Amino acid sequence: MPKIDQSERIFRLEDLKSSVEQFEENYASDINHEAYFGFPINPLLDAESCLLSDQEKSVAYFSMEYGIAPSIYNSFQLNRPMSEQNQFFTHEVFSNHWLCDYVFKIHIDKMLDIPIYGGGLGVLAGDSMKSAADLRFSIVGIGVLWNKGYFKQSFWYKHGQVPEELKWDPYSYPGLIPLNKTIQIDTKEGLLVLRLWKYYIYSYDKASVCPMILLDSNVEQNPDHFKKLTDQLYRSDDVWWKIFQRAILGIGGMKALECLGYHINTYHLNEGHAAFALLEKYITLQDKSQMEEVKKKFVFTCHTPVEAGHDKFAINDVAKILNQEYIEAAQMFGKKSADSDLVNLTFMALNNCAKVNAVAQKHGEVMRIQFPNYAEKVDAITNGVHVHTWLSDSFAELFDKYNDTFGDWRKDAAQLRKIKEIETRGDFRRDLFAAHQENKRNLVDIVKHWRLQEDVFTLGWARRIAGYKRPQLIFHQIDKILEFAHKIGPVQILLAGKAHPNDDIGGAHIENILDHIDRLNKDKDVIKVLILENYDTFFGKLLTNSVDVWLNNPLPPFEASGTSGMKAILNGVLQLSTLDGWVVEAKDNNIGWIFGYQHEGFELGSERNLRLDADSSALCDTLEDVLKLYYDTNQAGNVNVKSPWIDKMINCVEQAAFFNTQRMLEQYNERMWKF
Ligand SMILES: *Cc1c(COP(=O)(O)O)cnc(C)c1O
Repeated sequence: MPKIDQSERIFRLEDLKSSVEQFEENYASDINHEAYFGFPINPLLDAESCLLSDQEKSVAYFSMEYGIAPSIYNSFQLNRPMSEQNQFFTHEVFSNHWLCDYVFKIHIDKMLDIPIYGGGLGVLAGDSMKSAADLRFSIVGIGVLWNKGYFKQSFWYKHGQVPEELKWDPYSYPGLIPLNKTIQIDTKEGLLVLRLWKYYIYSYDKASVCPMILLDSNVEQNPDHFKKLTDQLYRSDDVWWKIFQRAILGIGGMKALECLGYHINTYHLNEGHAAFALLEKYITLQDKSQMEEVKKKFVFTCHTPVEAGHDKFAINDVAKILNQEYIEAAQMFGKKSADSDLVNLTFMALNNCAKVNAVAQKHGEVMRIQFPNYAEKVDAITNGVHVHTWLSDSFAELFDKYNDTFGDWRKDAAQLRKIKEIETRGDFRRDLFAAHQENKRNLVDIVKHWRLQEDVFTLGWARRIAGYKRPQLIFHQIDKILEFAHKIGPVQILLAGKAHPNDDIGGAHIENILDHIDRLNKDKDVIKVLILENYDTFFGKLLTNSVDVWLNNPLPPFEASGTSGMKAILNGVLQLSTLDGWVVEAKDNNIGWIFGYQHEGFELGSERNLRLDADSSALCDTLEDVLKLYYDTNQAGNVNVKSPWIDKMINCVEQAAFFNTQRMLEQYNERMWKF
């Protein structure tokens, strides 16, 4: 994105003001010539001008979900009162310290994260937008304004997870603005009207932004059942919801770009959810013979080998919702084989996008096995995380203190590699461990009533609760762990995660975990276990930077990448992991310990054969070594700075120089977008 002279701007503050619904009543005090909700406004006008210009090669990035995490990064300021619904203070805890659970809650003074994400896919989309802003790319995000978010979670003993509806107020959410523009999709059930919203993502230095457009069906003109279409992310109790939600993202998204007059060079489909965008492009094309050329503008990122992640719909079901021209196009573009009566969104994207990428090198291999006909098309660009979002303050201070070594690491995350130049310095090793202890004290403080201890070994596991991620593995032979913890030293375990409300297997896992935790009541002096309600990006950051070891135990090869471990290594947190996803690429760098089943060969195996017995044995054996090394390193606060533990911490940070979205987006740009 070039720097734009004020005189060249084709989008001005007046244009912004006149595009916002009820600007004077609601937003005038937050948006003026200097400031946009407390941030500088000029970069915003530049970004809009670039998107409107046909001189600029802009990208439209489509994603069903975005985890933007304004509670932990770049929070906007609001001059009016924020609705109480947008504040999120209390969380309950389920632990083996029953009494505490009854009496106490965790109180945190924080804003609700814009609740339009469910898990890692959304967090990656959010991190990508933030790095795009940092890199000054001209990009617009397309998503959906989920009026009831994903869901609110509570744990009930003997019931497991109880999902509740989440309420929030988009109209008083800092930085979120409703536009007075709507688009329409003509469906078999009548006209569906969608309002457009905007949210701007600023770069770390606030010199650049990327807009996001969010589509919303909760408007006056719609009948009641249409209003609910954008209530809950991934509502899946009926295919009707699923098809409509995908039509809103893909078809609605293309119409929104048209409505705003953006000139788009590349359409990036983040997962197959947005594949209907291809149909819309085809239908609006005057000269259909140009479609082959147009397809060159589409690229696709596939995020999972897991079956449930690949949308397929019966053509008859789609035909109940979309008009005939869409059905004809869907049959042309989206069938796995000529005789199929399904529209398969993964195949629609694979067939028609010029470039396709997997999200880690191992996932690339897996995709080539899953989709042999497309093997040559499949590139692999490994995921990353946004450094400025996930780095703890204490580590930022550490890198600044040693700035002779780290240079301008804020601008260039690759500088973190230089940590190896000072790996033998005693003062640095001491400071590094101290920075980690500071993060750990922060965790201990937040859950203070449960009396965790900063010099006790602490293990973390938090992610979406899904079968292949094996959340129950640590409990499978917990008696073994108890036995060696008695001899070597105590263990603290922190867990968090949500299961999709309709995922019965995931729900059963939570029930099973609560049961295990409950049974450990008498052993709480040796193993203390806490599971935190409502895992979100705030807890994601807290846990990944504060525990001593991050546990990652998916069943290979079903974890396409995984990103929570990348947040952990950035903060010097060691990995205890099976060999899958991004970890395969880091395995020779001594960032922790690898255990368990390893995938080889040209069969994927079954995602249902969880290998719990063998892999939990391997986990226990490895954990015993981990525990010994921990208590050799930290003896009740006396730190052995020469310990190989600290070498591993250093190697973790070194690897974070690669596993970040800055590097990832530079590769997207070179290999998929070519700015
Ligand atoms: C990082 C993150 C994830 C993704 O974790 P994985 O290790 O990729 O499963 C999911 N949810 C939240 C809230 C996160 O912050």
